[in-house]
Amino acid sequence: MDCIFCKIANGEIPSTKVYEDDVMLAFRDLDPQAPVHILMIPKTHIASADEITEENAQIVAHIFTVAKKIAAAEGLTNGYRIVNNCGEDGGQTVKHLHFHLLGGRSMAWPPG
Ligand code: IMP
Repeated sequence: MDCIFCKIANGEIPSTKVYEDDVMLAFRDLDPQAPVHILMIPKTHIASADEITEENAQIVAHIFTVAKKIAAAEGLTNGYRIVNNCGEDGGQTVKHLHFHLLGGRSMAWPPG
């Protein structure tokens, strides 16, 4: 499968890793939209949030338990935002489930 995030997860494509375990990887976004912009991905290929099921939901729960540790390690003591873009209208450009962890500045609402 020609998936850029699968290639990052298996080391074929380099990334700036900030966290890794058996289940997930977190690395810095190439085009940061905030002073801290990290992508958190499952190592297994899940195409989007639309593909989350009872069977794989534990992976997502795990990512969220790790997210707050990454935020703390990055010094985001004043809050942060976690974003998932799903599908074309959601603005998803990479078809491998990922959560953006953004912080280091005040966020606007609603998103564009
Ligand atoms: P999406 O638009 O929610 O699918 O987010 C995809 C994100 O992946 C964008 O923020 C891109 O900047 C980021 N991205 C794409 N390729 C790479 C890469 O090779 N390394 C790190 N980030 C990437």
